[in-house]
Amino acid sequence: MSDVQHWLDRFDAVRQAGPFAYPRHHHHDGGQHDLHLVVGAVVHGDEYGSLPAVVQAVEALSRGERAFGGKVTFFLGNPEASLADRRFLEADLNRVFVEDPGDSHEGRRSALLRPILDAADVFLDLHQTILDTDRPFYIFPFGIAGWHWARAIAGATAWVTRAPDQSFSPGTCCADEYVRLRERVGMTLELGEKGFNDVAAERAATAIDRLLTLADEVGRDGAALERAAQAKPELEFVETRWRCTFDDPHMRLRDGLVNFQPVAQGEVLSAPSTPEITAPCDGFLLFPKYPGYQADGSAIEPRPGEIVRIVAPLAQHPLDLWDVSGS
Ligand SMILES: [Zn+2]
Repeated sequence: MSDVQHWLDRFDAVRQAGPFAYPRHHHHDGGQHDLHLVVGAVVHGDEYGSLPAVVQAVEALSRGERAFGGKVTFFLGNPEASLADRRFLEADLNRVFVEDPGDSHEGRRSALLRPILDAADVFLDLHQTILDTDRPFYIFPFGIAGWHWARAIAGATAWVTRAPDQSFSPGTCCADEYVRLRERVGMTLELGEKGFNDVAAERAATAIDRLLTLADEVGRDGAALERAAQAKPELEFVETRWRCTFDDPHMRLRDGLVNFQPVAQGEVLSAPSTPEITAPCDGFLLFPKYPGYQADGSAIEPRPGEIVRIVAPLAQHPLDLWDVSGS
């Protein structure tokens, strides 16, 4: 039995159904306040490192070992892809939270998950990066409430952010974006390198625990949120400065690049004897991609849209940089 199957079996053994049709969720209603948290795991199937923390939180809540006065719904987005150790089976689930998601496994799944996201006041989506990262990080657009929650939970110290929902890719929508479009808080937390590891399990468990504790405080007193945020160190805000599009199938990164690796302007990022990729600015590398390559040196299709990006600290605090009046 795979480790994934083990955690799915444990989840299925204790989960309690809420008012949602999708079976792989657990719903808890503490009856003391109305704040509704939603925690997502394995929206990308092979990012299953949060499963132990999610299952253990569900076990603790359902056995009464963990108190929580509000509502919380945990869902497992794409466990079928987790069992196949794949990001998705037919379509990237985290792109299809749209009106007409299409008739794929993930399209049908998004239709089942949307009622859960519709109920969320605060949504935390737990992800992992393909490659190692020297730190966990949040990644979602800036907004006042999202900033307070992210800082107070302190699931990461870094936040890859951008102006409040400035750009939507037409026809696609991520789970956290779907929640923000409803003017609720939607956060994505990248826990570290994908797969089961103690670091991911620990980071996910800590984030979930703090989320529940904070939600109980906020559910009783809304002003508790800003106080809790200010009690934690400010987040380190970074933004994307450069995306290197994967224009040529022969493009290839040099070995050993990881997330948040510091990079200097002019540094060569490409492997020897491949089309040259040079960093146009200082910063940190994010999402370096190493697709499979064929004997002729070309990437196996479909290749990713971008091969690497560079992020760098914001020049000013987001509050001074962007109009956040609607966020
Ligand atoms: Zn992911």
